[in-house]
Amino acid sequence: MSVKPNVLLLGGTTEASRLALLLAERGITAIFSYAGRTESPRPQPIPTRIGGFGGVAGLAAYLREHRITHLVDATHPFAAMMSANAVAAAGLTGTALAALTRPGWQPEAGDRWTRVSGLDDAVEALAGPRRRIMLALGRMHVDAFAAQPQHHYLLRFVDAPEHPPALPYHSLVVDRGPFAARTDRDLLRAHAIDLVVSKNAGGSGASAKLVAARQLGLPVLMIDRPALPDRREFHFPQDVLHWLGHDPSPGTERGV
Ligand code: NAP
Repeated sequence: MSVKPNVLLLGGTTEASRLALLLAERGITAIFSYAGRTESPRPQPIPTRIGGFGGVAGLAAYLREHRITHLVDATHPFAAMMSANAVAAAGLTGTALAALTRPGWQPEAGDRWTRVSGLDDAVEALAGPRRRIMLALGRMHVDAFAAQPQHHYLLRFVDAPEHPPALPYHSLVVDRGPFAARTDRDLLRAHAIDLVVSKNAGGSGASAKLVAARQLGLPVLMIDRPALPDRREFHFPQDVLHWLGHDPSPGTERGV
């Protein structure tokens, strides 16, 4: 006899929000979890909790206390700590675990990518004369670039920062995706950008800057994804439903 699912959905991505909607529509019992990084997280159609669990032990305790049967890790591909904790806590408690994650971006004809394996390597790769750089990284990571203070950086954050970034020369745009290639092209032109630094997040919401860079012939410094422990992975919310024992409605499209 299959167990009625009681899901903990680790969110913070577009994919997590899509899955939350499907869970709500099917009446599957689930709790959505945000880290609490943004001031106004997108409201969800299922009960929501906010804040860290307190490492592996805290998450394991939460899974036990709330009798979670299925843990779905739909965090960002660069949220390596949370994803590693999810694997460990699921193992400790015997909770079924699946990740809902997007495939990484691949270079296309016309792309001028240089790949680096992490933030430190990206900072190091920027040694040299002053350039105008779009740092498409999120506010948690930009201060590391103070080690290359000679550049002018274009930053785009979801929320206005409480403290100004530690970069002597920068412009700041506050905006929330998804973004369009046309407007990102205008943005890159308006700021006379000559290099884009990006994490290989994958998905469609943040790919506009790469399309814009390709169209303008600009180089991209692409930070590869962190390594994660082995786990069951799905790329489509409908496949998670199937795993939970709920078949998607006939005719459901597999959107990306
Ligand atoms: P991280 O470094 O992997 O996680 C650091 C800690 O934040 C975790 O150990 C956990 O704290 C807490 N945490 C992370 N995600 C959580 C969640 N969904 N629910 C409850 N606690 C969570 O993560 P991060 O890179 O800071 O990302 C934080 C959030 O922002 C994630 O939800 C992620 O999906 C989203 N996000 C991240 C990026 C990115 O580039 N990293 C981009 C877009 C969105 P405890 O150890 O106390 O449990």
